[in-house]
Amino acid sequence: MGVKENFLSIQERIRHACEKTGREPEAVNVVAVTKYVSLERTREALHAGIRHIGENRVEGGAEKRDAFPDRGTWHFIGSLQSRKVKRMIGRFDYLHSLDRLSLAKEIQKRSEGPEPLKCFVQVNVSGEESKAGISPDETMAFIQSLREYPAVQVVGLMTMAPAVDNPEDVRPYFSKLRELRDEVEKRNYPHAPCRELSMGMSGDFEVAVEEGATFVRIGSALVGTS
Ligand SMILES: *Cc1c(COP(=O)(O)O)cnc(C)c1O
Repeated sequence: MGVKENFLSIQERIRHACEKTGREPEAVNVVAVTKYVSLERTREALHAGIRHIGENRVEGGAEKRDAFPDRGTWHFIGSLQSRKVKRMIGRFDYLHSLDRLSLAKEIQKRSEGPEPLKCFVQVNVSGEESKAGISPDETMAFIQSLREYPAVQVVGLMTMAPAVDNPEDVRPYFSKLRELRDEVEKRNYPHAPCRELSMGMSGDFEVAVEEGATFVRIGSALVGTS
């Protein structure tokens, strides 16, 4: 399927999920995760009117980003090693996987301009050992300590739900992330406006939208896997 057709059908499904829950579809941003696909397919996504592109590796991701200097808003969605921050900074507009202070410290050190990097704090809501992220109980304290790194701006929270057959099974994780987001947002920290929720992938984005996602990260259902 062409990216355009996939995008239209995903937008339709998002509209429907929004209708069910009284949300505005404009509040949901689709990030096309191009980690599996070629430069050509990424170009097709940008031509289809998709503005947000997500990559999970600095290698490959950086080259793709450099191939489209004036196009798109770029999201780094994978786990990020501190030594790769230098290549990531300046190329990507958002980081979805801030999960430790040492990473914030490195971002501070490598930061180039006056604009902070827009970051999502990754929260391990499900508690699976295989998943990265701060535990929900420690999230508030973690965000408070990020105040020391003005190069980091906490725009929201991100989570990866467990892989399940029935997307309804992950609804509690998404609603838990939303509750946490609400708690942080209420504090009005200048360094952490924390209004966004990055959650939902190909298999569960409708449930994520119903639970308040403002960024869904969609790979296989949108651009495919090869
Ligand atoms: C690969 C990936 C996605 C997209 O996964 P699909 O199931 O193909 O939609 C979303 N988020 C992260 C962090 C990923 O690594």
